[in-house]
Amino acid sequence: MNNFHFHNPVKILFGKGELSNFKDEIPAGSKVMMLYGGGSIKKNGVYDKVTEQLSGFDVTEFGGIEANPKYETLMKAVEVVREKNIDFLLAVGGGSVVDGTKFVSAAAHYPNGDPWNILAKGDVAGIVNPLPIGAVLTLPATGSEMNGNSVVSKIETKEKLAFGTPLVMPQFSVLDPTVIASLPERQIANGIVDAFVHVMEQYLTYPVNAPIQDRFAEGILSTLIEEGPKVLKDPTDYDSAANFMWAATMALNGLIATGVPQDWSTHMIGHELTALHGIDHARTLAVVLPGVMKVMLANKKEKILQYGAKVWDVTKGTEDEKVEATIQKTVDFFESVGIQTRGADYELKEDTVSEVCQRFEQRGVNALGEKGDLTVEKVKEILETQL
Ligand code: NAP
Ligand code: FE
Repeated sequence: MNNFHFHNPVKILFGKGELSNFKDEIPAGSKVMMLYGGGSIKKNGVYDKVTEQLSGFDVTEFGGIEANPKYETLMKAVEVVREKNIDFLLAVGGGSVVDGTKFVSAAAHYPNGDPWNILAKGDVAGIVNPLPIGAVLTLPATGSEMNGNSVVSKIETKEKLAFGTPLVMPQFSVLDPTVIASLPERQIANGIVDAFVHVMEQYLTYPVNAPIQDRFAEGILSTLIEEGPKVLKDPTDYDSAANFMWAATMALNGLIATGVPQDWSTHMIGHELTALHGIDHARTLAVVLPGVMKVMLANKKEKILQYGAKVWDVTKGTEDEKVEATIQKTVDFFESVGIQTRGADYELKEDTVSEVCQRFEQRGVNALGEKGDLTVEKVKEILETQL
């Protein structure tokens, strides 16, 4: 196991009823901005419950944060924060709203010019006085509720970039699994696959003799495989919803990343597909991951065999047969929850492959993956295998 430092200060308020039980987490007298998305919270009762909790505070609402939150929209929130001297941000929504809120927090008092530099130039060191954040999560998927990551898109340049810093980790997150009941199938499926791939990015690398970490990862994967389909079938099934929700949080709150190598190439490549074609985040991952498993096999073979045996019970045949069966099991799982895995399913063609490669070249990205040996040439191969 590799050395690590681990500190996750996010307080989790988990369970039925917690949506109506979090007001004491916000410092008394705060000037709160409540940020939310396109309106789902007004239809499913979450808005009413949250505003009830906020009744003692000076509250400004900022709705309309899109899926794949846009820099252009978030900068409008930043202006309001500055104008009104807002000092606490409450994100109410899925990963997009939570990620967007983190950007607003970091950008509010950013002193080095355009806050886009935080992403484009990686200037997290320049962030000053980030606003404290609370989150009410309505979509289990990203783990954003318990990590310091944020992904933001800029329309003008068709870029989708990420930044990460403990400075924007929420102070608290409310995880009430009853919010899942109103999720459309498409979003539940996206959540299952996104969380699944988060685990894979931290597990499917090369062995470092960390069986405890492997077992955490395998446990989360098996839970998503068992509970995910139950949630899809009946999103009001509380216990399945609760297990799914906690699995998605545990998939990306830093715990399973400790002591092990990490990949993240599937996400990096996937972000380009969303930026160029607007494909849902999880769907891009379902296309890219099988390609990464095939093309980067030399680095990942031992863990693919372990994953196949532990998670899918693939134990028969030669090593090559087992690898193939394991990749197929992964593809079948994604397809079984309704997420297609071929580029052609999303009308991706050769020109997209060249565009993605060009973008990586322009940004000097040429060393992805757990060993830094996933070059632009390999990105091309991965996408071409999956077209
Ligand atoms: P999302 O983009 O936040 O939400 C997707 C859709 O689901 C929205 O249209 C939203 O509608 C709707 N929705 C949310 N909760 C709902 C509910 N309870 N009932 C009905 N509809 C609901 O989805 P997401 O998958 O959570 O987030 C995706 C973003 O996170 C991407 O930009 C991705 O790159 C990023 N991401 C971040 C991390 C991280 O670590 N921070 C990791 C992976 C991915 P409304 O807008 O109307 O509310
Ligand atoms: Fe993700």
